[in-house]
Amino acid sequence: MIIPAGIMTVSLVNWVITGDIDPITYILCQGVVIALIIVSFYPPFPALSFMILLSSLGLIVAYPFLRAMMTTRELKSLELDQLENAYRMLGQQPRNPIAKFRIAKAVWDLGAPGHALKIAEDALPSMPSGVFIDEHRTFRNWTLTQLPKDAFRDLSCLDCGERNPPGRTHCFGCGEPFLLSRLGRKLTGKGNGKKLLAVWASITAAVIGVPFTTVLPPALGISLVIGILTVIVCILLLAFRVEIRDPAA
Ligand SMILES: [Zn+2]
Repeated sequence: MIIPAGIMTVSLVNWVITGDIDPITYILCQGVVIALIIVSFYPPFPALSFMILLSSLGLIVAYPFLRAMMTTRELKSLELDQLENAYRMLGQQPRNPIAKFRIAKAVWDLGAPGHALKIAEDALPSMPSGVFIDEHRTFRNWTLTQLPKDAFRDLSCLDCGERNPPGRTHCFGCGEPFLLSRLGRKLTGKGNGKKLLAVWASITAAVIGVPFTTVLPPALGISLVIGILTVIVCILLLAFRVEIRDPAA
């Protein structure tokens, strides 16, 4: 138990530093992990050892998924920052092909390859192939990639609803950098790692806590149940509340 708990603690600290989980979720989950360690060393009832084993196994099974989900989110968040920076650069120099190509690259990585390809196609003629070797190589690789059928479909603007064909960096209708809000919105739906973590922590809290309530005096038992329920509700609320990323931020 001590090894998965140790790994979990290191990961939790890491995630709270990178901002993947908020400090309150961190404290609650860390509390659950510590409780799990204590109870695994001093199991109050034989039946509980089995439950702890199950919960630890659950963690070991879920951990690779959890990590993968968090890493994907981290990478996407980096790409989104790069997209924001490229848009800022293009805002200062609206004809700058380098800024356009950077937008294309971030858009490709964020999962809109058709749009990336068309934006790059627009930028590359102004970028000499002898100077921008990497960019031209990247573009060649893109053209060799088998794209999904819907890669070149229009993307509607989240601000005004106008449909924008691939190749546009700003919305036809309102002039907003629609790709930023479109691809940013997609990212906020990807907090699945946090949800998985929340579900695990909640189940574990219940598994560890509830058997205790049967042996404690009724008053203590009831307050313990209320305490556990509060922790569970807090963890789940924090994980599943709707986060809206401010596109202007
Ligand atoms: Zn618009």
